Amino acid sequence: MARLGEEAARAEAAGADALHLDIMDGHFVPNLSFGSDVVAAVRKRVRLPLNVHLMLSHPDRYVERFAAAGANTILIHVEAACDVGATLGAIHGLGVAAGIVLNPGTDAATLSGLLGRFDEALCMTVVPGYGGQSYMASVEPVIAAVRAMVGGAMTVMVDGGIDRDTIVRAYQAGANAFVAGSALFHADDMAQEVTALRRLTSPPLS
Ligand code: ZN
Repeated sequence: MARLGEEAARAEAAGADALHLDIMDGHFVPNLSFGSDVVAAVRKRVRLPLNVHLMLSHPDRYVERFAAAGANTILIHVEAACDVGATLGAIHGLGVAAGIVLNPGTDAATLSGLLGRFDEALCMTVVPGYGGQSYMASVEPVIAAVRAMVGGAMTVMVDGGIDRDTIVRAYQAGANAFVAGSALFHADDMAQEVTALRRLTSPPLS
């Protein structure tokens, strides 16, 4: 983390499509990460789109500052303690794409009242809060249900425990965008790993 800018540049050079930044508040999840100032600092180091994943109880209070920091997409949890539909609208009002996130164990049906108000969906494949956790195959039926609900064209992303084995499972369940942390940052050759993961998920579903 002390070399976050260099590592972001390394991911860009390795061919990643976007950078996914996990923001934790120590309340919605039992851990802390970093805030909008760090996102703004990363923004200056890479041209990659920034996906800012707000693991916050009250994302509504922070969307403006993450938009100002340079987020291209802001993702909020359907389980957040705010008016989720209104917050998705607020994100759009800031000129930023809006994503909705489901924790493991949350039913896909929770999205039914929000259809048309988000641009992408993300299924957590670990309990959020820490890196380096194991992929939960139990989420695959939720990925499939979300895909069926949003149709073929939308981004359905998975986040947590994604590697060369689990990415194939998530892809087959209906995901078409994949957040990889440890698999890339701990790889001997990140570019080679990006290429391998991309090959395993080709052709893209949409
Ligand atoms: Zn995330």
